[in-house]
Amino acid sequence: MSRPPFDPTQWHPETIAVRGGSVRSQFGEHSEAMYLTSSFVFESAAQAAARFSGQEEGNVYARFTNPSVTMFEERLAQLEGAQACLATASGMAAITTTCMGLLSQGDHIVSSKSIFGATVQLFATVLTRFGITTTFVEGTDIEQWAAAVQPNTKMFYVETPSNPLTEIIDLKAMKAITEKHGITLVVDNCFCTPALQKPFEWGADVVIHSATKYLDGQGRVLGGAIVGSKTLLKEKILPILRTAGPSLSAFNAWVLLKGLETLQIRMDKQSANALFIAKWLEENPNVRKVFYPGLPSHPQYELACAQQTSGGAIVSFEVVGDTPETGRANAWKVIDQTQMLSITANLGDTRTTITHPATTTHGRLTPEARNAAGISENLIRIAVGLEKETDVCTDLAQGFKLF
Ligand SMILES: *Cc1c(COP(=O)(O)O)cnc(C)c1O
Repeated sequence: MSRPPFDPTQWHPETIAVRGGSVRSQFGEHSEAMYLTSSFVFESAAQAAARFSGQEEGNVYARFTNPSVTMFEERLAQLEGAQACLATASGMAAITTTCMGLLSQGDHIVSSKSIFGATVQLFATVLTRFGITTTFVEGTDIEQWAAAVQPNTKMFYVETPSNPLTEIIDLKAMKAITEKHGITLVVDNCFCTPALQKPFEWGADVVIHSATKYLDGQGRVLGGAIVGSKTLLKEKILPILRTAGPSLSAFNAWVLLKGLETLQIRMDKQSANALFIAKWLEENPNVRKVFYPGLPSHPQYELACAQQTSGGAIVSFEVVGDTPETGRANAWKVIDQTQMLSITANLGDTRTTITHPATTTHGRLTPEARNAAGISENLIRIAVGLEKETDVCTDLAQGFKLF
């Protein structure tokens, strides 16, 4: 007796997260299988020929496809509400592959200034060697985006909320500009993930992920993903993936599948913890300013409420200190007096991390560039995890006693 067919298109995100994309082998395993194989065998020479020519669908070689990787791709595409997804070995591999697929010599990118450091390096130093230029603009200033468009502009590159100051970029406004000029709108959705923000609903053409962060969520593996329409991924991205080879391993895909199962509940809980901590910081007389999109004091609170279902898990704050020297000394006191928080620049883990952006992630900028970016010596960024929120506050409070 066979069971009635099901319709996954009717599933809610929580269901997709645990069941989306799963394909069972003849062995009937309950948890997804990990296909640790580099190549696949054929029943005949004719079938091999058909697979290689693309006449017949199916696996050929793990640089192209692998069933564990395909399950992860399918699940993430469903969560983003997109047609398709291609996984990569890291977030940077996803961004590089997207640029190689969508851009050619002579093309131009407009990007917000406050994006991941390695992405800035890729745009500003690597792509320029291949004749692709980038104009960096103030992400929240829509006029600057519009003014930066040139006849050869092919891509808008957006990260929202921004790191570390959590500025929100208006995706609907971005779409209005890109649509007019036939530009591809690429959104790095690493900070919110589809659990909190669905860029395709606001007009994104491509969504990028560093799966290393919240999609795994437990700091175990590197991974990345490019999400979009079937046509775009098949025609523009897949040929690069197959030939350049930045493919995701089956093992990492399996770990990421397990990560996705708990994505929604992790993101909801980590966001709730972050809101609690942000409010607690706002009441602290030793804190000058808190940057968190879930606080009504955030300058773009309303836009954040419209675009995201919650504020996310990244909170930045400035400690008191009237000079850069005292600002740094006070920030370092708070960081060094914590006992539990992990002092590291990584984010997206179940364990709360704490970092001093001015001397780490943004340490290579000149003091002038840092000031222009609003990153003071007083600034601390925390990526809130799943610990009891009051334990995080207790840990943060130690350093303030020394002010
Ligand atoms: C970490 C990160 C990346 C790069 O991802 P990797 O997996 O480390 O290569 C890209 N964008 C954002 C926003 C990130 O935080």
